[in-house]
Amino acid sequence: MTTIQWFPGHMTRARRQIQDKLKLIDCVIELIDARLPLSSRNPMIDEILLGKPRLIIMNKADLADLEVTRKWLDYFKKQGHVAFPVDASTGTGVKEIPAQLKLLMKAKIDKQISKGMNPRSIRALIVGIPNVGKSTLINKLAGRSIAITGDRPGVTKGQQWIKVGKEMELLDTPGILWPKFEDMNVGYRLAVTGAIKEEIMNLEDIAFFAVKYLSKYYWEPMKERFGLQNETPIDPESSDEIIKVLEDIGRKRGCLMSGGRVDIEKASRILLHDLRAGKMGRFSMEEPF
Ligand code: GDP
Repeated sequence: MTTIQWFPGHMTRARRQIQDKLKLIDCVIELIDARLPLSSRNPMIDEILLGKPRLIIMNKADLADLEVTRKWLDYFKKQGHVAFPVDASTGTGVKEIPAQLKLLMKAKIDKQISKGMNPRSIRALIVGIPNVGKSTLINKLAGRSIAITGDRPGVTKGQQWIKVGKEMELLDTPGILWPKFEDMNVGYRLAVTGAIKEEIMNLEDIAFFAVKYLSKYYWEPMKERFGLQNETPIDPESSDEIIKVLEDIGRKRGCLMSGGRVDIEKASRILLHDLRAGKMGRFSMEEPF
C-alpha cells in the first residue's frame, strides 16, 4: 500500500492564501463533510484562522446518518462552536447562514451601533477542503450561478464581493484547505466519500475499505442494494469475505471478464458510485469520541 504524502508546499501556500484573505473579512464559514467531520477538516484549522469568529457548516448532511450528525452537533457545541447541518445542493439550511453570522458578530455590531455607527455588512470567507461543496454553497448563497462548481484549486481571480441579502457579503473565491493525515484510515475515508481523487489511492483498496466499513455498520443497506445472498453479515476482519462481497456485486452488475472472472475494478467503481450517490441510504464514517 502506498503512503500518501500531502505536499507540504501546497499546505503552506494554502495557509498563506487564506491568511491574506483573513485581513479582509469579519468571520469564516468553515465547511466540513457531515459524513466525516474530522477527516474533512484541516487539523491546523484553529491556528490557520488566527482566532477569527467562525461558523461550522456540516455540508452534505443529506447524505449523512441523522443520528450521527446529531452527535456531532453536540460535540461541536460542547467545544464552544456554532455548527449546523446544510445541504448546499438543494439549499436546505442555507437560509440560516446570514442570521447565524449576525448572531456570531452580535457583540461587534452592538458596539458599532452604540458608537452611533451604521453597522456595515458582515464580510465572510468560505473555507474547506476540495469537493466539500464550497462553490455549490457560494452559488446558493448568491442566489444565481456565479462560481464554477468543480475541483479547481488554485484558480484565484481578482477579489470580488458577492452580496447576500442586505447584511452579508461573501468573498467570491473560497479558501482551499488541504486535508492532512498520517493515518491511512483518514485517507481512505476521504477517498470513499470522493473527497480525494482515486488516482492518488488504489480504487480496489478504497472499495475494500468501504465494504469492510459497510459490513460493520451498514450491512443491511449494502445487502439490499446489491441483492447479496449472505444469510448473516460477513466478518469485516476477513479479507476473503470482503473480496467475495465485491465479486458478488460484480456478478450482480454484469462486471465479467473473459473466462467468467469478475472485473473487481468495475465492481469497485459501481459500489463507490452508489455509496457516494446515496443509493445505499445515509451513512457516516466517523463518530465523535
Ligand atoms: P468545492 O470543491 O468545495 O467547491 O466543491 P463543489 O461545490 O464543486 O462540490 C463538489 C461536489 O459535491 C459537486 O458534485 C456538488 O454537486 C456536490 N455537493 C455539494 N454540496 C452538496 C450537498 O450538500 N449534498 C450533496 N449530496 N452533494 C453536494
